[in-house]
Amino acid sequence: MIYEDYAIFTPGPVKMSEEILQVGAKQTPYFRNSEFSDVTFACENDLLEMVNAPEGSKVIFLTASGTAGMESAVMNLLNKTDNALVVNGGGFGQRFVDICATHAIPHTNFKVKNTNLTDIESLAPNETYTALVVNAHETSVGHLYNLDAMGDYATKNDMLYIVDAISMFVTDPLDMQQSNIDVVIASSQKGLALPPGLTMVILAPKAINKLQNINSLYFNFKDYLTNGERGQTPYTPAVTIMLQLEARLNQIKKRGGIANSIANAKEVADYFRESIKALPLKEYTPYMPNAMTTLTPTDGKSAMDVVNSLEENYKVMVCPNGGAERDSVFRVSHMGEMTKEYTDILINALHDYYGVARI
Ligand SMILES: *Cc1c(COP(=O)(O)O)cnc(C)c1O
Repeated sequence: MIYEDYAIFTPGPVKMSEEILQVGAKQTPYFRNSEFSDVTFACENDLLEMVNAPEGSKVIFLTASGTAGMESAVMNLLNKTDNALVVNGGGFGQRFVDICATHAIPHTNFKVKNTNLTDIESLAPNETYTALVVNAHETSVGHLYNLDAMGDYATKNDMLYIVDAISMFVTDPLDMQQSNIDVVIASSQKGLALPPGLTMVILAPKAINKLQNINSLYFNFKDYLTNGERGQTPYTPAVTIMLQLEARLNQIKKRGGIANSIANAKEVADYFRESIKALPLKEYTPYMPNAMTTLTPTDGKSAMDVVNSLEENYKVMVCPNGGAERDSVFRVSHMGEMTKEYTDILINALHDYYGVARI
């Protein structure tokens, strides 16, 4: 299968830009020098600015997939004396629950459905918690939570607020100061549109002060902070992906900054949702992010059949849901190098598949 022949609408890895692909085609340089330290510093500064991090915040760069960012954040910040409220609205919420269980962190599995948690105050169990752990966009179903409301709740109850922003970074609004977020987890292969392999954990001072000595060599954040002072990491970083990250952050700036990036994602997502109104597909949730559209066929056809036909007959990749929702739900990503023209490939394929003329 030659990926270049396909139009890509999967929620990670996503469509990458030519400019970023070219950075990846070059010889990987040596990195224990000031030239590479400058790359790390530039990435850190741009990332902190992008999420409006409070003064004194730091970025941990881990060479690992996003789940390592989730797990290491829990490992470094929570212990047996904590009690975490873990929002579980699908597969990624469940992953945080599993991480807490693995590390014996006391927690409540807060199962949610059909809410974006604007009313978390009344929905949350009436218990004392020390931390709120959530995936801003629950990618398994395409559900975006209200970060401000959860931040107010966390602040009021003096909880550490940990947000996995992996699948809404760069496509949807994220402001650490406005939402009182203490920890943001991002990773390379979603909205940042880079290859997988790099995850970033952004720590506000409140989180930095809470870092503990942990039983792990590779994931010890204190070690990363010490090395970070000179723009380095304790172990070999994903050097090429760091160079691609630097180029990508510059690209976002050149294109008018993060606000423009979010506006573009919204424009493309709205265009897609508007353009498929005549098709027998309904939106799965009213709380969709700009990053993704989740659809349910209303004509009795299997979602899996739609996914397979798009791939086989139209060379268009969308994403099926797993498990019980395999036949009822599929997902369309708007993350990455997206335009209306590119999205037309999918819109036209869907109309052809259903035999409906596009208006
Ligand atoms: C993709 C994703 C992750 C990371 O998954 P990895 O496969 O470990 O990179 C974590 N959280 C959310 C919400 C995601 O969408």
